[in-house]
Amino acid sequence: MSVEKIMVIGAGQMGSGIAQVCAMAGYSVYLQDLKQEFVDRGLGIINKNLSRQVEKGRMAADEKEAILARISSSTDINNASEVDLVIEAAVENMEIKSKIFAELDKIAPAHAILATNTSSLPITEIAASTNRPEKVIGMHFMNPVPVMKLVEIIRGLATADEVYSTIEEITKKLDKVPVEVNDFPGFVSNRILMPMINEAIYTLYEGVASVEAIDEVMKLGMNHPMGPLTLADFIGLDTCLYIMETLHEGFGDDKYRPCPLLRKYVKAGWLGRKSGRGFYTYA
Ligand code: NAD
Repeated sequence: MSVEKIMVIGAGQMGSGIAQVCAMAGYSVYLQDLKQEFVDRGLGIINKNLSRQVEKGRMAADEKEAILARISSSTDINNASEVDLVIEAAVENMEIKSKIFAELDKIAPAHAILATNTSSLPITEIAASTNRPEKVIGMHFMNPVPVMKLVEIIRGLATADEVYSTIEEITKKLDKVPVEVNDFPGFVSNRILMPMINEAIYTLYEGVASVEAIDEVMKLGMNHPMGPLTLADFIGLDTCLYIMETLHEGFGDDKYRPCPLLRKYVKAGWLGRKSGRGFYTYA
């Protein structure tokens, strides 16, 4: 199936990165969010990323302009009527995602594939909110999208083989490495990563060590490039909490219960890097 035009829904840290790599691969992209200021913030991130590439001599200035020219801002979901593929990267919440997919199903052309960048939610359940479950698929990018090579590809119960192979091919065109995983809460990446982050938060909560000490132990002791609390701030503490809740509910096992300190921080609006404060403070 030929894909030329893509809509990315949600212009946050993931959506802006996905729009950037799609435009870099030559696709025309709509970057869609609820308000123009959110789209502008996403475009600002893309502009900054590309400018850095130009400064380092890795990209010509006119190439940067050509990439930016392929991205159109959108605050009207009806623009999905023009695209061949939608990649949804709105917040990690089943109610919101189901509503978006039900709407997209009515607007997008019959041939269009509807993909979700969910970190943990069941693809089959998201697909059930549409009348085209065979065209719904999980396309889980890693953060930061322009840097990280992996994309987990997840089929729902009804996903068609042709849809899987189209998405696999597009992922390679984006210069990423697709890895097929099955539709279980958290897939592979977050089923393993999030309980580790949650345990690091419990370690802090129970007074075993300071934020800095926990991160230092995991960096120097386990050779992780960044500590788990730094990583949690980077991912977003609201996203971490949503994922732990999905694992807890999905497996019905208390070993996945979110740490009360994580809940407290999210309630306080301490969402990590994106809100200026999480386990660390950011200028
Ligand atoms: P974010 O908070 O940075 O951005 C979410 C954006 O979605 C916001 O700009 C918000 O305004 C927008 N949005 C909310 N509802 C919308 C709607 N109905 N229509 C259009 N836009 C809407 O979040 P993020 O970190 O970019 O995460 C987005 C998705 O990607 C989540 O499903 C998350 O689980 C997943 N994900 C996140 C990471 C990560 O490290 N943060 C990694 C992989 C996948």
